[in-house]
Amino acid sequence: MAQEAPAPQDDCLFCRIVAKEIPATVVRETETTLAFRDINPQAPTHVLVIPKAHHRDAAALAAADPALAADVLRETQAVADDEQLESYRIVFNTGSGAGQTVFHTHAHVMGGRGLQWPPG
Ligand code: C5P
Repeated sequence: MAQEAPAPQDDCLFCRIVAKEIPATVVRETETTLAFRDINPQAPTHVLVIPKAHHRDAAALAAADPALAADVLRETQAVADDEQLESYRIVFNTGSGAGQTVFHTHAHVMGGRGLQWPPG
């Protein structure tokens, strides 16, 4: 059973996008999630899918609210369908050492070009 949703964080960029205080190019929205184009795209399609509730990273989200984590994953699939991506990558950077710069859970959905493995 989900815990009570964490309060929005005033100093969190993505909470402020959810609150419409900072603009974003939204491509999908559900009751629990928001998907918007990355401001610095690294691929022809580069969309971020976030839970509206504040959780610092994917692990924290999965531990606190597995149903919401499933909502986020479902929306990554919906973005890929909308963008007609046959192949794509879903990335949750987790921790600053892995490149996480915004500490509000977000899935990067990237596609529309060849993607190398392993990533840098
Ligand atoms: O995984 P990481 O935390 O580095 O990803 C944060 C992402 O948020 C970056 O790709 C950055 O371009 C994006 N961003 C955005 N809109 C903002 C600020 C950051 O799309 N206003």
